[in-house]
Amino acid sequence: MSARIIDGKAFAADIRGRVAEYVTRLKADHGLVPGLAVVLVGEDPASQVYVRNKGAQTLEAGMKSVEHKLAADTPEEDILTLVDKLNDDPEIHGILVQLPLPAHVDEEKVINRITPAKDVDGFHILNVGLLGTGQKSMVPCTPLGCLMMLRDHHGSLSGLDAVVVGRSNIVGKPMAQLLLRDSCTVTIAHSRTKDLAEVCRRADILVAAVGRPEMIPGDWVKPGATVIDVGINRVPHPEKDGKTRLVGDVEFASASQVAGAITPVPGGVGPMTIACLLANTLTACCRANGLPEPEGLTA
Ligand code: NDP
Repeated sequence: MSARIIDGKAFAADIRGRVAEYVTRLKADHGLVPGLAVVLVGEDPASQVYVRNKGAQTLEAGMKSVEHKLAADTPEEDILTLVDKLNDDPEIHGILVQLPLPAHVDEEKVINRITPAKDVDGFHILNVGLLGTGQKSMVPCTPLGCLMMLRDHHGSLSGLDAVVVGRSNIVGKPMAQLLLRDSCTVTIAHSRTKDLAEVCRRADILVAAVGRPEMIPGDWVKPGATVIDVGINRVPHPEKDGKTRLVGDVEFASASQVAGAITPVPGGVGPMTIACLLANTLTACCRANGLPEPEGLTA
């Protein structure tokens, strides 16, 4: 059997298109332009690429994009002052502080300074609590993207056995909360889990968010399961000397022979993250102005 490949690139393009259409209507009907501010501290090359892509896609969707690039040695107090300023700016509906922050900055303090309604990454402690108690919140972008793909493939997720490998605050835990909210029976696995292979084999839905190249082989996958591979790992290219390539946490070649559906790396979950960031910014703008939320773009 060969799995259906879930095309995250096409899915993300569709979401961005729907966001752009809604933004056009917001402008025409209400004179509103959703605004996203991204704060980047330091010169981490990967973060710079992410921030550039976020800015470009925000503008393409017809939204306002503001970037604040601060030196790596910017004092924590200055970052907090900037967050306060953005919190008070009525043209900014979403604030994203690019992680990781330099070691001298307390990440939790900075994230928790963002007004929860503008916290489009969904990392503020209030949003975490709201999600955990099943209330309306801002939902972290990567798990939201995974959920959208799963709902699209399955329709209802109710009663399915879901295993999430990884328990980070950014991916694993919010993913598990979302699956629980959609009435899956959820297991969260991590580095101390006993017999991970057996745990994975129980999953109708297997989400891998570990950061270890191809650690989940095909024989850990239940036949017909849906596999969502969040991992992004750069490894040496097997055929091209000195070159690298990206692989996921799942061994795609073997897993795609067993699974019913699977996301590839690259081109699976990755593109969904920024698309969901745009969706969250639009949602935040609608909520701030007492307007209905865009359908199908929230959890
Ligand atoms: P973290 O490093 O924060 O968390 C990794 C998790 O994997 C931890 O919970 C850890 O367990 C668990 N783990 C580590 N080794 C094992 C093992 N041998 N067996 C089982 N579990 C293990 O990573 P993130 O959640 O931030 O990211 C995970 C992956 O997803 C990375 O590759 C990252 O690049 C990618 N990613 C992709 C995004 C996208 O847009 N597609 C967005 C965000 C992340 P423990 O807690 O016990 O240490």
